[in-house]
Amino acid sequence: MEELDILINKEHLLPSDYIPEDLYILDNNDNNFHKYQDPTLKPMLREIIKPFLDEMLKNAKKDGYDIIVDSGYRSYAYQQRVLDNLIKEKGKEAYKVSALPGASEHQSGLAFDFAYLRNGIYNDDVIETTEEAIWMANNSYKYGFILRYPKGKEYITGFNYEPWHFRFVGLEAAKMIYDGNLTLEEYHQILTKTKKLI
Ligand SMILES: [Zn+2]
Repeated sequence: MEELDILINKEHLLPSDYIPEDLYILDNNDNNFHKYQDPTLKPMLREIIKPFLDEMLKNAKKDGYDIIVDSGYRSYAYQQRVLDNLIKEKGKEAYKVSALPGASEHQSGLAFDFAYLRNGIYNDDVIETTEEAIWMANNSYKYGFILRYPKGKEYITGFNYEPWHFRFVGLEAAKMIYDGNLTLEEYHQILTKTKKLI
């Protein structure tokens, strides 16, 4: 699990008791629309990716885009509750929009959903044409992140297009995935094939 390019999806589940050991709290409460009363509800990510994330958000800001982490680490139990609620609301459709517990990258502490500032207010209604989403899709690889669920690759990832969800995989993997227009699934397939050839 310590490998930063680990594949997590509907076929590759995280253990139910997995909790990253180096979680840190992102203290952006002052400008976050959630205004958390309970500090334990603030977004958390793995400390190991902090320098990369900070650098990315700093450079986004230089380009005029004010981006914050809206949702980071989520526990196995949390994901179970989210799914249960969605099933009540949407039935089977829930499985398309929410990961099964263990299949969510949010449990790894390596993935986050972002929000962006517009007219002084943070928004989480990220769509394909949101300027910040375009910036993130085109620049995040420089900092080791990838757009994890791209448009047109739903049949490979098993998830709908999510322009707001980014995943840390490390600089080398991110560049290879970005340059090759790959998904993390395809990247892992290539790695496995390469290993077999050697
Ligand atoms: Zn997400």
